[in-house]
Amino acid sequence: MQINVAQLLKWPVGTTRSYPIDTDEPLMLDDTTTFTLSGGRVRLDRIDSGILARGDVAGSVELECGRCLEMFQAPIQVHFEEEFAPLIEVNTGALLPPPEDELIFTIDPNHLLDLSEAIRQNTIASLPIQPICTPTCAGLCAICGGNRNLNPCTCADDEGENRPFAALRSLLH
Ligand SMILES: [Zn+2]
Ligand SMILES: [Zn+2]
Repeated sequence: MQINVAQLLKWPVGTTRSYPIDTDEPLMLDDTTTFTLSGGRVRLDRIDSGILARGDVAGSVELECGRCLEMFQAPIQVHFEEEFAPLIEVNTGALLPPPEDELIFTIDPNHLLDLSEAIRQNTIASLPIQPICTPTCAGLCAICGGNRNLNPCTCADDEGENRPFAALRSLLH
């Protein structure tokens, strides 16, 4: 997800370029979570301090369902808007001071703008807080612990008939 912006940096402020984002490589969001991108687009604007990257990517992230605890592929759309500052003045090759604002990304000395980290951070920020595999997920049974999507158990019915003994019965199990 690297774009060479040497040319764009030489153009006047206000110049815009648009690029497709297509990569076969999944993006690791953390040690275990991967974002599989299906596509996207980014618009790069030459601004005073460098480049403003605005874009959208789509794909899927493997998440654990908050109800049944099974892993599932959640479709996801991510919008991002981030500033990138050059570390090298493109015309003279002079070193530039790093941006004071730590939230601003940098363009590497070879004028490569890497979108991966910006997309990673924005994807993490837009993940659902409590992901659910399907709106109708029946979740885990609070009594036997079984996945009620796979094995509809009758614990809840039994409990309804004989509520005071349900807790005792689960202890005996
Ligand atoms: Zn579920
Ligand atoms: Zn049960």
